[in-house]
Amino acid sequence: MQTPDRDRLEIIDDAVVRVGDDGLIMSVGIEPGAPVDLDLGTSGILMPGLVDTHIHAPQWPQVGTGLDLPLEDWLFQYTLPLEARYSDHRWAAEVWDDLVPSLLASGTTTAVYYSSIDLQASSLLARACADHGQRAFVGRVAMDHPEGAPEWYRDAGAADSVRLSHESITQIQAIGSSLVRPLITPRFAPSCTDAALEGLAELATATGVRIQTHCSESDWEHGYAFDRFGVSDTVALERFGLVRSGTVLAHCGHVDDDDLTIMSRRGAGVAHCPLSNAYFGDAVFPAKRALNAGVTVGLGSDLAGGFGTDLLGQCGAAVTSSRMLMSGVDPATARANRGVADSSIDAVTAFWMATRGGATMLDIPVGLLEPGRSFDAIVVDVNPATRRLDSSLRWWPEVDSPERLFEKIVRTAASTDIERVWVAGRQVKGTLTD
Ligand SMILES: [Zn+2]
Repeated sequence: MQTPDRDRLEIIDDAVVRVGDDGLIMSVGIEPGAPVDLDLGTSGILMPGLVDTHIHAPQWPQVGTGLDLPLEDWLFQYTLPLEARYSDHRWAAEVWDDLVPSLLASGTTTAVYYSSIDLQASSLLARACADHGQRAFVGRVAMDHPEGAPEWYRDAGAADSVRLSHESITQIQAIGSSLVRPLITPRFAPSCTDAALEGLAELATATGVRIQTHCSESDWEHGYAFDRFGVSDTVALERFGLVRSGTVLAHCGHVDDDDLTIMSRRGAGVAHCPLSNAYFGDAVFPAKRALNAGVTVGLGSDLAGGFGTDLLGQCGAAVTSSRMLMSGVDPATARANRGVADSSIDAVTAFWMATRGGATMLDIPVGLLEPGRSFDAIVVDVNPATRRLDSSLRWWPEVDSPERLFEKIVRTAASTDIERVWVAGRQVKGTLTD
């Protein structure tokens, strides 16, 4: 089961997928009676691996906590003190060694990470991804603004932000893994000086390395850009040269149509983080409007702003929040004025964002099981005979059409239902011998 387009579900019964030694898919088709190395039977549902486009790796130890404060207070009170701990590389290695396999086990075959400002901790994260076999983009966080970052957790200045970002690119590339790549990562405008934002854009031009940052995440961040730059966050980032082909802009809940036009024209994409936005975004990102404007949208957990780290759960959150955007949330407002028309997305579009959308944004050959792409895939076990009481995923073959089963998987599957995971043809979860 897969979603080649954002409004199209493709289901192939009894498909045989042939994978080369290089991890690339050679063929997908029906081959009655052909010998296979692994038979998934009727209850193993093969799907593309999930692409999480926004993760703060150092925040893993605070998942599920600290959701009582607005973004700007949450950062300084809870989050930055935790991130500062990663100058302790033993601690960093211990956390990475737990985080990366945990995400793989929940089906996240590609992860886009913010690390901390620490150079070596960032390289250790890239190495952990390579060792555990996760496809990943790793960004050493740059932040140098004297007011937007505490003196105990920031770069010494703009020159240091650029120099250390460049050094991190060199170190991550030197690992030599085909799975792991660096990212240039200005945290967001409030924590970076103009000189750092300019210098990091120049670094992207010089190295060809893609950029990730946050954009118009909350009322505060959105308003901050107008106060400091006199324009929207998107326009300001574009002027600095940071909105370009392949840039990953996280959240974007407050962007308007002009901002979406800029993103579409520049080829930048959005990491949509629906659950995190419910706590920190002050609004629902208009995913359908962005897609209709030609912007590529991927899905993100925003660990740990979002406490649900499995991306199938985020698919459900994306559907739910889009429904709330469409219907509106305040019953005291008349129904006709309560919501935003034509905003809802369904499970097919949500799964597309979690797979092909993210892959398109990152320009990587995953997100779909077809010849020429990498075999990054998951198997969801829906066998009625081995149903798990710790999951609500149930397949009733008498009443569930394949389309209905797809919806059930997207909305109800738990990580424990994901039986096997492969990245680039290498199995990283499940039994290796059968
Ligand atoms: Zn974030």
